[in-house]
Amino acid sequence: MIYLDHAATTPVPQAVADTMYDVLRNQYANPSAQYRAGYDMRIQVEEWREVVAGALDCPPSRLSFTSCGTEGDAWAIRAACWRNRRVGRHIVTTAVEHNAVLETLKQLQEEGYSVTQVAPRADGAIDAQAVLSAVRPDTALVSVMLVNNEIGNRYPVEEIGARLRGVNPETLLHTDAVQGFLKVPFSAKASGADFVTVSAHKIGGPKGIGALYVGERVKNPRPLLPGGGQEAGRRSGTEATAQIAGFAKAVELRRAALPETMEHLREIRACAVELLSAIPDLRVISPETDSAPHILAVSLTGWPAANIVTDLSAQGICVSAGSACHQGRLSHVVKALGLPPRVQKSVIRLSFGPETSRADIEACAAALRRHHDERLPML
Ligand code: PLP
Repeated sequence: MIYLDHAATTPVPQAVADTMYDVLRNQYANPSAQYRAGYDMRIQVEEWREVVAGALDCPPSRLSFTSCGTEGDAWAIRAACWRNRRVGRHIVTTAVEHNAVLETLKQLQEEGYSVTQVAPRADGAIDAQAVLSAVRPDTALVSVMLVNNEIGNRYPVEEIGARLRGVNPETLLHTDAVQGFLKVPFSAKASGADFVTVSAHKIGGPKGIGALYVGERVKNPRPLLPGGGQEAGRRSGTEATAQIAGFAKAVELRRAALPETMEHLREIRACAVELLSAIPDLRVISPETDSAPHILAVSLTGWPAANIVTDLSAQGICVSAGSACHQGRLSHVVKALGLPPRVQKSVIRLSFGPETSRADIEACAAALRRHHDERLPML
């Protein structure tokens, strides 16, 4: 199989699986248990927390484990709205956020909030000034992702963070960093964000574990999941120890090889741009600059994306149509770019990881060219 869908999820390295297996089989005590094995596990969880916090550049005491990026996004948004319930009921976001953010905001709209969605420019960029101009005296929260999961643009979270307090000192800032974590340089502490969401399965960790950083301005974020008081009372539910161990191991592995991996991803992406651009009717959608190195969206204009994905799949090549989360519907991100409908309907996303080789890209480019030459385009 040629796997070019690392933005959807990533393969788990053997060392991560081994670490998790060891925890599942041999270190299964509940960290809340009163006996020695429980105490040892509690210490272990704190060590793993330090590893993940180190990669995000934040104090471990401000990082809580969650079940996934989706939970982190929902929690951050709800906790920000609760903390700023007296500030107002207005939220600023972008039209190209992940559905984990947009659907949570939709619920809040049903509860009486108003939401301003800032549109991207035609190249997918989000203008920091446009976001800041949308902030009002009653804006409780700004939520802007770090890297767009469909087109790879890197958004100006730090600039928004640096200027937001000058516009409204009460407004809190959340960034969904699920696609940016360990893919683009980023420091949670220095970004000015009050909430940062990450997820393990995008960086070689297991599915079912993520983390949320909450800055000092929100001392005690209101739990999304109240209960037994784990995670310093912030997030209840017995700690998913094997998942947390796997998350920390994946972070360790990625950090140890970070410069080489980044260089490799840049080379792979450049190779993909070169080979794919030579295919007639193929248009590169992702921007050349201000982009994460692992995502490349292209449009084989005239050939429906779903057919391309199926055809490539039959040849053992995995790519996605827009975003895996949209299940065949035209993605809101692609729509927001304002491209002609024929271009929109043909957008596919290739995404890369440390395991991706030049040969993988060559095989994908050859398959796309065959698709172009042998299949009829839509009318
Ligand atoms: N945010 C972004 C930008 C994502 O790409 C994803 C997953 O695709 C998520 C949130 C959701 O993360 P998870 O799958 O861990 O719930």
